[in-house]
Amino acid sequence: MNKTKTVKDYIRTIVDFPHEGIMFRDVTTLFADPRGFRMAVDQMLHPYAGQRIDKVVGLEARGFILGGAIAHQLGTGFVPIRKKGKLPGATISQEYKLEYGEAVVELHKDAIQAGEKILVVDDLLATGGTAGAGIELIEKLGGEIISCAFIIDLPELGGRKHLEELGMDVHVLCE
Ligand code: AMP
Repeated sequence: MNKTKTVKDYIRTIVDFPHEGIMFRDVTTLFADPRGFRMAVDQMLHPYAGQRIDKVVGLEARGFILGGAIAHQLGTGFVPIRKKGKLPGATISQEYKLEYGEAVVELHKDAIQAGEKILVVDDLLATGGTAGAGIELIEKLGGEIISCAFIIDLPELGGRKHLEELGMDVHVLCE
């Protein structure tokens, strides 16, 4: 009998990318499938039915694809958090730790107004460093984060725990 495919079934694993020892969870195979992509977007926004959300904030780069689709469905605006040097207007910046070294993400200063209700979106939660930096930026502008939504959580890397310790509500579709 043909089992109905779940979101997880559309995700491909590439071994040793971008470095040896990394199991890269590749969502391009999920995004490329019309049923898979719709299912992922619908399941990601499902928990927020009836809640006020003013803006969806997506983390570069796969968070833009999901965040754009989710914002369209919710009828909200979309705001990108980008890697340093990509946003053209006046920005605020936040540094965060990577496995080796550091990185910086930026947000346009005028992209969020104080008191706006924000949903943060990305494809995958690993250590939570990227999302944590994004949360700092949103809160600096006075945004109120309703929740953070991801397709995949890698629980052994502790990202969910880290975000929950920051007081965040976290939703994931699979581990
Ligand atoms: P982190 O900041 O450690 O939570 O890492 C999350 C970011 O890195 C997300 O934007 C992911 O797309 C990417 N990422 C980290 N680990 C992986 C992995 N194993 N497979 C795919 N993407 C990953």
